[in-house]
Amino acid sequence: MRRNFANNIISGIFNTLYPSTCPACSLKTDTIAAAPFCLSCWSTMSKYTGASCRICAEPFMTEYSGICGHCIKNPPPFSKALCFGRYEKVLAQAIHALKFQKIKRLHRPLGKLLLQLELPQVDAVIPIPMHLNGLRERGFNQSLLLAKVVAEGTRTPLIIDRLIKGKETPPQIGLTAKERTANLSGAFSALRSFSGMRILLVDDVMTTGATARAGAKALRLAGADDVTVCTLARAAAT
Ligand SMILES: [Zn+2]
Ligand SMILES: [Zn+2]
Repeated sequence: MRRNFANNIISGIFNTLYPSTCPACSLKTDTIAAAPFCLSCWSTMSKYTGASCRICAEPFMTEYSGICGHCIKNPPPFSKALCFGRYEKVLAQAIHALKFQKIKRLHRPLGKLLLQLELPQVDAVIPIPMHLNGLRERGFNQSLLLAKVVAEGTRTPLIIDRLIKGKETPPQIGLTAKERTANLSGAFSALRSFSGMRILLVDDVMTTGATARAGAKALRLAGADDVTVCTLARAAAT
């Protein structure tokens, strides 16, 4: 009771300082943890448990899990992609709010969703880097913010600025999987050896997996033994 009272006072003060309504239901925000989202909208997010490709997490229409055609034809340089949910509803709104409305504090509750995945034991956590121009424009790299939460939560070293995106690539939206791969070819490079290391590569959204493949490829070329990719959401390619 007392705790509720204290919580109400804290959210009251918070709302005075940062008056906000939940982007999903338009009601007044009632939590600091996931603000501006309200607690009931935030808690509708759940881990995708349906059938999906055992390697790249592409959701299947059938109930049988296996390996998708894309991974059979062209095996990715990562051993597995872990993904919290599908890019839809509140999860999509929250990622959008972080990236484009620049509500940076959302990286914490979103990063905690990644900690709900069955993450493997690794030697380092590495974010998918942004090109310097993109970074200047946004002011932060959302994948780095998420990777920080994962590194802290799993007590794993975080390595930044050693995998870089040296080539600026046009937005991937509207491109086919083939075009995305060509677009990203040679975009990433490693600035050190990752010899013998197991790496967890963190990104916010995975669409065709072209970015994850290109990032993982650069790490494998630098000697990494194994790369697991972890992302918040799996989006359908448009
Ligand atoms: Zn809400
Ligand atoms: Zn696959």
